[in-house]
Amino acid sequence: MSVNIPSTFLEKIETQFPHRKDAFLRSFSESKNTSIRWNTSKIGSIDNAHSSVPWYKGASILKTRPIFTLDPLFHAGCYYVQEASSMLLQSFLDKYLNISSNPIVLDLCAAPGGKSTLIANHLAGNGTLISNEVIRNRAYILKENIERWGAKNVIVTNADPKHLAKAKVAVDCIVVDAPCSGEGLFRKDENAINEWSEDHVRHCSARQKRILHDAWALLKPGGILIYSTCTYNNHENISNLDYVMSEYEGIRLSIPIEKEWEIETIEHNKSIGYQVFPNEYGGEGFFIGGIQKPGISETNVVKEVNKNIDFEFVKPTQDDCFISFMEDLYLVNPSTYQFYTQYAKRLRLVHLGVNVGKQKKTIHLPSHGLAMSLWIQKEIPEIELNYHDSIMYLQKKVFTIPSNQKGWHMITYKSKGLGLIKHLGNRWNNYLPDKYKIKMEVPKDYKYSSLIS
Ligand code: SAM
Repeated sequence: MSVNIPSTFLEKIETQFPHRKDAFLRSFSESKNTSIRWNTSKIGSIDNAHSSVPWYKGASILKTRPIFTLDPLFHAGCYYVQEASSMLLQSFLDKYLNISSNPIVLDLCAAPGGKSTLIANHLAGNGTLISNEVIRNRAYILKENIERWGAKNVIVTNADPKHLAKAKVAVDCIVVDAPCSGEGLFRKDENAINEWSEDHVRHCSARQKRILHDAWALLKPGGILIYSTCTYNNHENISNLDYVMSEYEGIRLSIPIEKEWEIETIEHNKSIGYQVFPNEYGGEGFFIGGIQKPGISETNVVKEVNKNIDFEFVKPTQDDCFISFMEDLYLVNPSTYQFYTQYAKRLRLVHLGVNVGKQKKTIHLPSHGLAMSLWIQKEIPEIELNYHDSIMYLQKKVFTIPSNQKGWHMITYKSKGLGLIKHLGNRWNNYLPDKYKIKMEVPKDYKYSSLIS
């Protein structure tokens, strides 16, 4: 790729990171790897040989980029395509977020869902993740990615940060992956280069401060703020951490960094942050830092609730609760139920835990969300398809189904749920929602290679 990087930007890189400039420029002509992060709740733990991003257990680096749209495992929510640099968030969660205290975590700028799916795996069903996106259509993209992930403890909201403060939301951890000037994406996205200017950086920095101001108000005493951008400049990064540290007297948080990761630790005034550069692991430019609000954090008491109703297709655990919301029935854990009862009237909710389906009088209609989760009744027969037929199913085309048994069935590929179908006696109905349908055709010479054995 021949690139025209603004000279003022390069001067800044040279001033801030003089020893990095050559490698940074070289990275534009080097080949880019792709990294994916596995959904450990569906795939199980990943052995170390598989985990090839040094700061994250459970990611793989792909030397060539497959057509993800044509991978049934992608549609089954088995992995998320995410840059390795962003996965450094895990180091903050490992050190500072104790999942046994059922934390309430807010991902404030969440779409399309990269950080949220990582946080959901970290929580492993404990506490609640509020995955929020202010832009409405992006909130719906977020909802799709969250639904695929299949977690019972994630709520998707569509709110401005100010509105969350008005609703008196109080959380133990808030992740602010802020809208930024996108400098870290220059290698991937020429538009980011064209849109870059010093004015734009200043504008982003001011907006980030406003978001941080609102975010701080949402944190409980002892709670932690994790702030990130995909940029290199101080205005959007360490200066914003400085702003929070001095304005609100926060406590800076550090994470362990190994020398061979080639991540730069930046200390300025009282703040500390970490700068990641384009790397061989499938990562681009990224900055992250953390600050704790002074005070004692308390363990969240999750009250027992008896909201465990019968839904033919679901196998809830003893603690699970059902919520009837709009026209659907949702399965959530008790912590999420508690959050819902407290805030449902004050927030615009887009999604809740696992959408299990509809109940019309005595008839139960299972939903796609259930097929994406791990709580579907084993009594629903599964139909395992080969690659070709899985794609036909996902394209909603007609193909021969190897069963004659009437009723609901779950379609699987390599034992991972893709969606539901119903045999009516004379035909099959495909219940894959249209929004998830694959619209592209498989190229004639396309050779699929599965990412799992
Ligand atoms: N965290 C996401 C992920 O890992 O997939 C990426 C988030 S992206 C860097 C920033 C997000 O902030 C965008 O989805 C954007 O719509 C949202 N945003 C834009 N303006 C905002 C504002 N004023 N307050 C909060 N979020 C905003």
